[in-house]
Amino acid sequence: MSEAAWLSKRLESGKVLCQACAQSCKLDEGEYGICGVRKVENGELRLLVYGLAAAVNVDPVEKKPMFHFLPQSRAFSVGTVGCNFACKFCQNADISQYPQEHDHHLVGQELPPERIVALAEEHGCRAIAYTYNEPIVFFEYTYDTAKLAHERGLKNIYVTSGYETKKAIDLLAPYIDGMNIDIKAFSNAFYEEICGAKLKPVLEAVKYAHEKGIWIEITTLLIPGKNDSDKEIRDIARFIADLDTSIPWHLSAFHPTYKMTDVERTPVTTLRRAYKIAQEEGLMYVYVGNIDDEDHTSTYCPSCQERVIDRSGHIGQYVRNMLDVEGHCPHCGYQLEGVWN
Ligand code: SF4
Repeated sequence: MSEAAWLSKRLESGKVLCQACAQSCKLDEGEYGICGVRKVENGELRLLVYGLAAAVNVDPVEKKPMFHFLPQSRAFSVGTVGCNFACKFCQNADISQYPQEHDHHLVGQELPPERIVALAEEHGCRAIAYTYNEPIVFFEYTYDTAKLAHERGLKNIYVTSGYETKKAIDLLAPYIDGMNIDIKAFSNAFYEEICGAKLKPVLEAVKYAHEKGIWIEITTLLIPGKNDSDKEIRDIARFIADLDTSIPWHLSAFHPTYKMTDVERTPVTTLRRAYKIAQEEGLMYVYVGNIDDEDHTSTYCPSCQERVIDRSGHIGQYVRNMLDVEGHCPHCGYQLEGVWN
């Protein structure tokens, strides 16, 4: 299925500029964007995976990870093939890099926006998550689905690397209720060498999405020797804290995969060290991820320090939310920041 990609513009040079993400591809007739799913055909940029879902699951919202967003609920999760990044540590490379590695061949099941919303309702989900690959590359598909979902009383979550243009965020903001954005490192060299992208647009997207009032949680996968120095962890923590100390930060454990099999798993000590640094920098909600660690994956009230959301087991397996429907602490009444209803 293919649909006109309306986040695009024809340039005087005759090329077509894609305005969805900061890769800003300028394409001639017949050319594909870096993501492999947007292509100029008959002078028009087309999204080639509109309505073509490559991965569909019902997941605990905690798995996105979103910890301050409708806890204990399920998110109908959908992704396509294609990605604007080429991370060497990608955990979903089988779909994200599929077109690039298969001569632009596309795979997936036909799933138009109405069907996604209907399935989400059938499965008792409270939100739809655009995830697995980078959702901005299938922007028009996410936009139409998110709009329909809102009409049906469902919320929407973007799980993203944060490469959206301001124009895209402006369009998404009325419909996307939450975003989990990766800050993969705080060095441009890391982004260029390991991800095929740049750091600055990510930081700008985080700031702008926050400014637009979208609930944001940040994730950083800590990779031994690549982005896990005290300084780099502290730099990211400071960036988040300068923006808003109530933004949750998920510090995830790396495991060797895809093109990064020569690096060891993240030791638990690294996660604990990063957790401590984040707290020193004033972040109110810090979590470790990809390991079973109840103490460091549970939520504590920033006012009275009591535990208010228990999380244990594999991500999202056991969650006990003690907050009231508006997110108030049952012990002191402090209203925790997040999307609670
Ligand atoms: S969405 Fe794809 S085509 Fe558009 S700018 Fe990003 S990588 Fe290029």
